[in-house]
Amino acid sequence: MTLLVQNLHMSDRVIPLVDLRNTARAVQLPTTPVVPNGLLADALGRPLRDLRISVTDRCNFRCSYCMPKEVFDKDHVYLPHASLLSFEEITRLAKIFLAHGVRKIRLTGGEPLLRKNIEVLIGQLARLRTVDGQAPDITLTTNGSLLARKARALKDAGLQRVTVSLDGLDDSVFRSMNDVDFPVQQVLQGIEAARTAGLGPIKVNMVVKRSTNAREILPMARHFRGSGAVLRFIEYMDVGSTNGWRMDEVLPSAEVVRLIQSEMPLVPLEATASGETAQRWGYADANGRFDPALGEIGVISSVTQAFCRDCNRARLSTEGKLYLCLFASQGHDLRGLLRSGADDADLASALAGIWGARSDRYSELRNSLAGAPAPRVEMSYIGG
Ligand code: SAM
Ligand code: SF4
Ligand code: SF4
Repeated sequence: MTLLVQNLHMSDRVIPLVDLRNTARAVQLPTTPVVPNGLLADALGRPLRDLRISVTDRCNFRCSYCMPKEVFDKDHVYLPHASLLSFEEITRLAKIFLAHGVRKIRLTGGEPLLRKNIEVLIGQLARLRTVDGQAPDITLTTNGSLLARKARALKDAGLQRVTVSLDGLDDSVFRSMNDVDFPVQQVLQGIEAARTAGLGPIKVNMVVKRSTNAREILPMARHFRGSGAVLRFIEYMDVGSTNGWRMDEVLPSAEVVRLIQSEMPLVPLEATASGETAQRWGYADANGRFDPALGEIGVISSVTQAFCRDCNRARLSTEGKLYLCLFASQGHDLRGLLRSGADDADLASALAGIWGARSDRYSELRNSLAGAPAPRVEMSYIGG
């Protein structure tokens, strides 16, 4: 196990980067083979429905809540290309996840559009089927910087939807959030190109940090109301170990909803799918009823209202480790098993063993955990 620890001073805080990439657990094959039937459940009875695949640990942004530039600087060592899962390896694993019940595949990163020929992978994934014989729901989360150029090719390859991260409309606020001076206009053009290409309904993710971009909440709500895109406000989370997270920087979703309500009336909407991360609120018409033409917002309250009970998400890291929770310290080395010559039946049995033993529920336990938190893997490595 290699632990790389850098101590860095940012403001008055020390931010250690603990490189957990080499600390995976070797995967054991269960003694009895498990034939997948789409009904896999974990130790708390939660099914496996959503697979998030990180296709690169690199990014052209340095959002302070994710890849602070003081840590992810020119000396940061990214994974070498040979460590990354190839498209064929990703597709083979995805097929086994689908056999165990996954219905939705989200490509993420790092910045997924930086992975060369990503549309080739999308094409391969689009040909897979769920246990019910349906095409999987394939989506991608991007910072939008390359979307204007790539939207059409992504759609042609079989991508259905995109989620674009956008933390504000004010150019100077946005440039300070991405911390590489990237202009907001280019992301807005990316959203427009995605809409024109038919990659909808588009979701827009805004991470809210109280002192940095809370004043962008209302302008963002006004801009996307009635646009067909669903704006989602995400509570700033204590993911990874480098972002210097503090509770007083979290703006609870309830406050976001109250603020928007004060200008644009909202009504609560039902969840569309079990395990959905966002609580939905619809814009109301003059009679106080949901008006679909005005659309909806979502709030993702992973800090103030944990939703582990329904968590059906697995995360496959860039180099093929399976993480059972966004806040995990260790992953399970599926790539090791894959490259050791395991056949599909072995991989399916191994996955059943790992998911069957899962009991993670970090967000529910966050406030009752004693002592210093265990180091957590970075979000840019396992994907959001
Ligand atoms: N680079 C792509 C992007 O930004 O959309 C995909 C990867 S990014 C890790 C996935 C999502 O995680 C983004 O919507 C981002 O805003 C969110 N995210 C990253 N760090 C976060 C944090 N500390 N708290 C809440 N959300 C975070
Ligand atoms: Fe890059 Fe996305 Fe992380 Fe921002 S949130 S640094 S865009 S990976
Ligand atoms: Fe799922 Fe872990 Fe998040 Fe809970 S904390 S919702 S178990 S990823």
